[in-house]
Amino acid sequence: MLITANRLERNPSLKDQIRDLNIQQTVYGHLGYPVLQAADILLYKGEAVPVGEDQVPHVEITREIARKFNNQYGEVFPEPDPLLTVFARLAGLDGVAKMSKSLGNTILLSDDPETVKQKIRKAVTDIQKLRKNDPGRPEVCVVFSYHKKFNPAEVEEIETGCRSGALGCVDCKLNCSAKISTFLAPVLQKRSELENDLSLVLDVISEGERDARITAGATMNEVRTNMKMG
Ligand code: SF4
Repeated sequence: MLITANRLERNPSLKDQIRDLNIQQTVYGHLGYPVLQAADILLYKGEAVPVGEDQVPHVEITREIARKFNNQYGEVFPEPDPLLTVFARLAGLDGVAKMSKSLGNTILLSDDPETVKQKIRKAVTDIQKLRKNDPGRPEVCVVFSYHKKFNPAEVEEIETGCRSGALGCVDCKLNCSAKISTFLAPVLQKRSELENDLSLVLDVISEGERDARITAGATMNEVRTNMKMG
């Protein structure tokens, strides 16, 4: 036994999911999902796992499973660390703590500048700032949190302008959309190049699949040997 149902029920990501999606009844899939992720990490002996902040508890579960296996059957798995970036968590456009496809509050890497502009136009700001010249509270504004990530050079100026009422939300949002689109431009460019070269994409996938099978097979051989299963 490598992990208990009790431990999986205490997973903070599950609690967030239950709250955000208003889940009335948890099923096996909710509990088993982080175990599935653990398998995907451990099978390839991952040491650093690039994840969003909300996935850190899943890496912790993976570490616990690795530790338990190693103690019980002998050293096979490294205990992986989460690898966070400056974009480890982005608030949702609706003001919810994180962007999530299931909540429909995301900006996608594939969004073109017009789509980004339309999405940011509807993003939640400070509800007390009704008119352009009303003083605002950037600390409660989702758009300001995006400026902090995508437009650090202007953050101070925006904060001052917002608080004094000199800066209006419409201009602030247009500026924010432009900065996000500038950030996404190379991603869109690469995506379009790859869409025009599908044979390269298929080659990369099949090469990756072949390498993954070899690595996974070697790990499973070690696991079976250590568990005296073959
Ligand atoms: S001015 Fe900008 S930071 Fe201030 S509330 Fe409006 S959108 Fe948010």
